[in-house]
Amino acid sequence: MMLDINKFKMINKAYGYAVGDKILINIGNKLEEIFGKTALIARYSNDYFAVLFDYSDNIYTAISKVINKIENIKISNITYNLTVSMGVYKIKEKDKNISAVIDKAIVAHSESKENPYERYYIYDDKLEKIVEEDEKIEGLMYNALMRREFKVYFQPKVFTDTETMYGAEALTRWEHNGKIITPNKFIPLFEKNKFILKLDTYIFEEVCRNMRLWKEELGIEPIISINVSRDHFMDEHFLEKYYMIVAKYDINPNKIDLEITESVAFEEGVDIIEIMNRIKKLGFLVSIDDFGTGYSSLSMIQDMPIDIIKIDKSFIDRIGQKKKNMVDYIIKIAKELNLMTIAEGVETKEQRDYLLEKSCDIIQGYYYSKPLPIHEFEKYLKTNYK
Ligand code: C2E
Ligand code: CA
Ligand code: CA
Repeated sequence: MMLDINKFKMINKAYGYAVGDKILINIGNKLEEIFGKTALIARYSNDYFAVLFDYSDNIYTAISKVINKIENIKISNITYNLTVSMGVYKIKEKDKNISAVIDKAIVAHSESKENPYERYYIYDDKLEKIVEEDEKIEGLMYNALMRREFKVYFQPKVFTDTETMYGAEALTRWEHNGKIITPNKFIPLFEKNKFILKLDTYIFEEVCRNMRLWKEELGIEPIISINVSRDHFMDEHFLEKYYMIVAKYDINPNKIDLEITESVAFEEGVDIIEIMNRIKKLGFLVSIDDFGTGYSSLSMIQDMPIDIIKIDKSFIDRIGQKKKNMVDYIIKIAKELNLMTIAEGVETKEQRDYLLEKSCDIIQGYYYSKPLPIHEFEKYLKTNYK
């Protein structure tokens, strides 16, 4: 069993680390009480515990004991209301490798985390299939990169008022055995196994290479947006690496817009403003992607050296549904801060007209174009980029 406390960070924040440490020690003791001396109990990391125990008893009894004993821990007369998440894997005769066993319990644990109302998840066939699928992809990814199976598609961005082209977003597709695999099938996995660092760098270079060709052959330099994953922000050399690529292809960094998702921009523990300042100093543009889906505070945006806010598709979907719409407010705030606004996922004329009325600067979505493979995008550029 792998278990942790939900939002343990908040406990540390609210009560201080000393109390947090006491709670962890207490949890360790409680686990010994519950599982007895024959079990192997370990603190895996932070507030993450691993328990190896004999489940010949009833496994659900063990789970409910954990909930009852840990969810209202009492220390010096104060009761802390915690909630736990547990992932359980039932070890079988054939399992010989302990780290593979732990991995499966971790997968089950992540599954229980997916649903805030589920305290536990017991590894089952559904997860087995996902793990197998992931292992298959992991077996293919290095070769895929070498064989250049990852392709950059470009989705045009269009000025709302004039309907002329502003630029495009680079989006990755994986072409494997004549089939096209979309990013939702591999990006989350690559974020987990860190392969995203390699893929993002490759895509970044592919984009620069193409930008250079357009500059030479078509004489144009449209602004291209590239997604930067959160892991890149943890890597202090990523900016130097990106800057070297830009220099290699002689691209002006102010033609490249780095899209950073809102959740990354407001992550704790990373001095995001410092990194953004460095990005800006090198001349890149910066966008906040999926804006409105996270917990950003407006005061933080004020302090951030960003250029563009991308309003998340979920808000655009609501246009025309007569629900109270945030789009209006987001655009007003952006204007107040002198930021450009892009609406993503625009599919209908009604949405476009609404965005025009509210003075949203740029539109990206199927209404104008889907992401296009390179040759089609080049045709699009020739006819639309002025
Ligand atoms: P994103 O950055 O939010 O990209 C926008 C997504 O919305 C794209 O999905 C795009 O195809 C889709 N989209 C655009 N207009 C419309 C529309 O009108 N209707 C609908 N229904 N969808 C629309 P896609 O290409 O499947 O990419 C999904 C996500 O995968 C991206 O979300 C991005 O977070 C990630 N991603 C894609 N390529 C890369 C990459 O090279 N690196 C990294 N780190 N992430 C990537
Ligand atoms: Ca994006
Ligand atoms: Ca987005």
